[in-house]
Amino acid sequence: MTEGQPIPFKAETQQLLNILIHSLYTEREIFLRELISNASDALARLDFVMLTERDVLDPDIPPEIRIRADKDAGVLIIEDTGIGMTRDELAENLGTIARSGAKAFVEAARSAEQNLTEIIGQFGVGFYSAFMVAESIRVVSRTYQQAGQSAAWEATGEDTYLLLEGDRQRRGTEVRITLNEDAREFLDETRLRQVIKRHSDFIQYPVYINDEDEPVNRQTALWRQSPRQVEGDAYQEFYKQLTLDFTDPLAHAHMVVDAPAQMYALLYLPQDPRNLVFSPRKEPGLKLYARKVLIQEFCTDLLPPYFNFIQGVVDSEDLPLNVSRESVQSNRIMLHLKRLVTGKVLELLQSLAQEDADKYRQFWETYGGLIKEGVAIEQDQPEKLFPLLRFHTDQDATGWSSLEDYLSRADPEQEAIYYFLGEDPSAVRFSPHMDAFRAAEIEVLVLTDPVDPFILMQLKSFQDHPLVNVAEAELPEADVEGAQPEDTPVLDLAAQADLIVRFKSLLGERVSDVRTSTRLSASPARLVDPAGAPDQSVQRVYKLMDKDFDIPKKVLELNPKHPLMTRLAALHPADPRFDLVAEQVFENTLLVEGLHPDPVSMVARIQDLMTSALGDVEGK
Ligand code: ADP
Repeated sequence: MTEGQPIPFKAETQQLLNILIHSLYTEREIFLRELISNASDALARLDFVMLTERDVLDPDIPPEIRIRADKDAGVLIIEDTGIGMTRDELAENLGTIARSGAKAFVEAARSAEQNLTEIIGQFGVGFYSAFMVAESIRVVSRTYQQAGQSAAWEATGEDTYLLLEGDRQRRGTEVRITLNEDAREFLDETRLRQVIKRHSDFIQYPVYINDEDEPVNRQTALWRQSPRQVEGDAYQEFYKQLTLDFTDPLAHAHMVVDAPAQMYALLYLPQDPRNLVFSPRKEPGLKLYARKVLIQEFCTDLLPPYFNFIQGVVDSEDLPLNVSRESVQSNRIMLHLKRLVTGKVLELLQSLAQEDADKYRQFWETYGGLIKEGVAIEQDQPEKLFPLLRFHTDQDATGWSSLEDYLSRADPEQEAIYYFLGEDPSAVRFSPHMDAFRAAEIEVLVLTDPVDPFILMQLKSFQDHPLVNVAEAELPEADVEGAQPEDTPVLDLAAQADLIVRFKSLLGERVSDVRTSTRLSASPARLVDPAGAPDQSVQRVYKLMDKDFDIPKKVLELNPKHPLMTRLAALHPADPRFDLVAEQVFENTLLVEGLHPDPVSMVARIQDLMTSALGDVEGK
């Protein structure tokens, strides 16, 4: 390629530049945040290289970021002594959009309904954001590699850029922005100081203005301070600068630990993961430092996957510095760190639950699904997650109860924690399995989330109280009896036996057995599992994993006190209504269990039953 020949930007870069050049975004000062953040990344990458390589250009110049304002020329320069870029890297990095935030921004802009220029700041658009204030930009860089040469990149418009020879002697990069007429405010030192403080205070390398010796930013790694020293809303500010989330985190934790591994950590619980979809930290993982050097931008080995929503920084003096991705993962120290960090997150969530019920509710409604998944998949002491779980109950359909709450309300004699398992929360109202519990006023957890059966595979008991499905519960009969009106007529044993025989011959292979039950009151009948059948939660798990799995045949239980049964038993053996009613009783039980394969097929029968119920109506 001929030197200095204009090179066209990729189409999406052109679009992005077009938006940025013409944007009326009022907080365009964020371009400085983006360039300082790039400079800081470049310094962090150099630090990382220098862990293993000493043969770099200018090994002794200090890491720094310097902002220079040339008021006469109207030029603002952001200079760093970081890793630098070769000519090829300039073309690769600044000719295309690599950054996912910028890509997301262009995509959002294409389908934009709202005016996106109002929210550019939340995207972390990167280097190109400088075009909001630039007439033209010239980047001059020199790579850290001894043999490399200086190269330059220049762009004025929306369509093309130039690659040229550079004249930089030192390692690092300078971004020279010729400011638009209306952006000259960024040459003013007070204004620069304000912007740097506001957006880049926690950048770990010193940021200087012009020839000053005192850095503008506080620079201290907040996590390395003693928690007692951290003042005001520094924790919140750090979080916002780290993630670009515009809302405060729901909770945070600061850890300073010496044993079994030395570690500092700052952990945050974001209010809403949706605030981070365009954030530079939308990928899961914590920032991992070893002795202040950034080892991994997104380290997912420090927390189990179900805690991936936690944001923050972990820094340890004990991690070896000759690290690679693989050695980080399998390192023994990492296992210690993971245990510590995971334990801290658990503690953070539990104290949130104790101290702020509203915030915990918000947490649960946002992340509860992940915690449930965690219970389902965790092999290492899943019980540590049990106290975090929340459930609706039949007595409080909108509130959230912990297992502990449930037990605190239950009769001290009650041994089990009872739950209703189904697909539809409203089914609990009609479930015949609830008859006895309602009568005895025993509270029941309502589990209707598809992941709930998986939880039950692990959550077998809590504080020595077994979890028991209401459909499988052996309630003491006395409880049921006590709730029955004394004078309810009951079928005698001969009539019960007769009824059972007739149901059996009608239903044949469709049920495994028919019997009467004393555990029903408001409902005429119900389906239960035969003895020895797999647990219902297990059946549901099978069914979810294998569509062809056949639910084992059920036992039909009849309520000998229900008027429907007493009248059915009294029908003449030849009365055709017997089969209609008995069939419908059975299908109703299928329906409430969520097992009916084809509810519409009942319509014809129901119409026959209605016709019959109306009897012979006299014509008007
Ligand atoms: P991002 O920083 O998210 O990757 P940018 O568009 O801001 O997106 O930058 C693109 C790439 O350009 C960076 O990934 C980096 O490789 C390179 N880059 C930008 N600024 C610098 C700099 N000051 N020093 C070295 N490399 C840089």
